[in-house]
Amino acid sequence: MSTQRFDAIIQSNTRVRTAVKETGRRSELFAVNVFNDERMLQYLTKDALASVKSAIFSGSKIDRKIADQVAEAMKGWAISMGATHYTHWFQPLTGATAEKHDAFFDLLPGGRALEKFGGGQLVQQEPDASSFPSGGIRNTFEARGYTAWDPTSPAFVYDTTLCIPTVFVSYTGEALDNKAPLLRALGAMDDAATAVAKYFDKNVSKVNATLGWEQEYFLIDKALAHSRPDLLMTGRTLIGNSAAKGQQLDDHYFGVIPQRAIGFMKDLEIECTRLGIPVKTRHNEVAPNQFELAPVFEEANLAVDHNLLLMDVMDKIADKHHFKVLFHEKPFAGINGSGKHNNWSLATDTGINLLSPGSTPMKNLQFLTFFINTIKAVDSYEELLRSSIASASNDHRLGANEAPPAILSIFIGKQLSEVLDELEGVSKGKLSPQEKTELKLNVVGKIPEILLDNTDRNRTSPFAFTGNKFEMRGVGSKTNCAKPMTVLNTIAAKQLVAFKKEVDALINKKNLKKDEAIFNVLREYIKTSKRIRFDGDGYSEAWQKEAKRRKLSNNKTTPEALKVLTTKESLDLFKSMKVMSETEVRARQEVELEAYIMHVQIEGRVYGQLVYNFVIPSAVDYQNKLLTNVLGMKDVYGAAHKKLSEGQLAIIESIAEHLTDLKKKTDIMTDARRKANKLTDSHKKALAYCNDVKPYFEEIRLNCDKLEKLVDNKVWPLTKYQELLFIK
Ligand code: ADP
Ligand code: MG
Repeated sequence: MSTQRFDAIIQSNTRVRTAVKETGRRSELFAVNVFNDERMLQYLTKDALASVKSAIFSGSKIDRKIADQVAEAMKGWAISMGATHYTHWFQPLTGATAEKHDAFFDLLPGGRALEKFGGGQLVQQEPDASSFPSGGIRNTFEARGYTAWDPTSPAFVYDTTLCIPTVFVSYTGEALDNKAPLLRALGAMDDAATAVAKYFDKNVSKVNATLGWEQEYFLIDKALAHSRPDLLMTGRTLIGNSAAKGQQLDDHYFGVIPQRAIGFMKDLEIECTRLGIPVKTRHNEVAPNQFELAPVFEEANLAVDHNLLLMDVMDKIADKHHFKVLFHEKPFAGINGSGKHNNWSLATDTGINLLSPGSTPMKNLQFLTFFINTIKAVDSYEELLRSSIASASNDHRLGANEAPPAILSIFIGKQLSEVLDELEGVSKGKLSPQEKTELKLNVVGKIPEILLDNTDRNRTSPFAFTGNKFEMRGVGSKTNCAKPMTVLNTIAAKQLVAFKKEVDALINKKNLKKDEAIFNVLREYIKTSKRIRFDGDGYSEAWQKEAKRRKLSNNKTTPEALKVLTTKESLDLFKSMKVMSETEVRARQEVELEAYIMHVQIEGRVYGQLVYNFVIPSAVDYQNKLLTNVLGMKDVYGAAHKKLSEGQLAIIESIAEHLTDLKKKTDIMTDARRKANKLTDSHKKALAYCNDVKPYFEEIRLNCDKLEKLVDNKVWPLTKYQELLFIK
């Protein structure tokens, strides 16, 4: 009999807490490991600094001589921080980050050694990266891809390695990563939003999209997590009977954080602070052992890098505290899953949040412009935005009734809805002086007051306006935010470009004043984007029906959701905004489909293993024990034993029934998997996995969970929910 479960329980119960020392004030610790403005000022020559700044601000190229200087300075600083190696840190399409470390150390002729790192190594590298998914862009014969420095995200020293954030592209220039398209989308957003912001303030010369993510996760004792092959291989429990106590008492949410978890969080925050990740809040989430961490928002590219870095740091610090962090969107059935809300806004270089109402009617017209254009953009491309958060693991949330649904809709609250209703009534063409005054005083002028009591926060909405930002709530806890951020910024940029064109046409051809033209265009947008606005219960049956009537998409599974990526409309969008070529989009769709197939395939295999190697043997063990008992009863009591052994016999039969069904379903599932594997078209294969393989998972699970309930606790080999979910 396997004793792993019981050994793990003992280990988890006898843990000695890892001590955590605060090494100084957090504010003093902030970004000490980052080659940021402060360090650059200290280490770079004036020319080099100006060149890097201009690259950050306007994307200009850094020439080779300057790159050499920057590299020299960076090396000096990194070595002083204890770094021995450097790496180009990049985001291949696997969704995680990748790194290949090279030593600074180099040998000179004559056997002398030297620390070497020049502009060449800083700016560009060629990792042998032929095994990263490329969706066919780069077949293995042409395996070469290179990484190139992204100066907008500062280099940092992590442990003893200087990490240089980079994009990863093929030699033919196609993006092989998630960062390159994001940077292009942010560039498009900058151009489009700056042009529109200039209607209101000529001094605006740059607009940054901002992102504040909220990372949810589970924390499980390492020994307990490792005792479950499914957690180890798939990131979630494939089977497991719900514990008697789950989240129904709501006693975990915002409750006292367990001591061991606090130790982990403190250590994590200290490390994050050193790395310049501005972590701010920590609290318990709804489910037992579920927590959340959120930073102060940042420019979107940096925020994405920081989220990826955070997930990596979390893994390492957790290990130190004998925990395993689960980033999977649905690690446990029956309790809440994890998401990663993406709070998004637009900030000008003049310090204005364009999605924040202001103190004057003009500032509010600016707010309404960006607010309504965002609504219009999401309405036009709702299905594409949904596709950006599709994954096998997130399907468990978006299709189910606990997270914002697979249907995209926008919540803006009652008061702002009323403002939009008023604006819908604005006259066509020129406005009378009375109408202008009325608009200024009673509609546009009133917004800040209104927002103050706009406290109604609809948690069931997948895209909610929350006072001065939009909050995208369907993003999965594991997802690389670059994906939704690329789509959101691309569609909003496209919309702003169209808006500017329409407004300029009204000004130039119809002789309207600027504000009249803006009101006229916004009025039409409000009318044509109404279907995306929904303030009701997003989890309800009624909304599913209503959304269908409104012709909003409702793609519950990844293979369905990914289809839209390659429609003519989507391809045109990415191409016209110079975010992705058709080849790049098709490659991404292929990679996402492949990832889906792999994930479901692995789960299918692990199910087979759990059923045959764990569940059936332990059920049979227990059944045998009962059978021995019944035979003994027969020996002693003769014919009367049947009546006396009724209970045992019923359990024996129950086990037999579940075993039969379990074996049958597992074998059918395995056959379905083999059949799916024969398909060569990725989309058909993904659909086969989704529709022919995956549905058996639930039935297999049901039988396993019933058996867990029946079988003697002492012989059940898999660590149970109640053991996994309540840290001591
Ligand atoms: P919650 O949504 O949990 O109630 P808050 O509304 O306080 O919490 O904010 C959540 C997140 O929103 C934080 O991570 C914060 O950084 C982010 N945020 C706040 N303002 C902005 C902004 N202008 N742009 C992007 N993110 C923002
Ligand atoms: Mg939130």
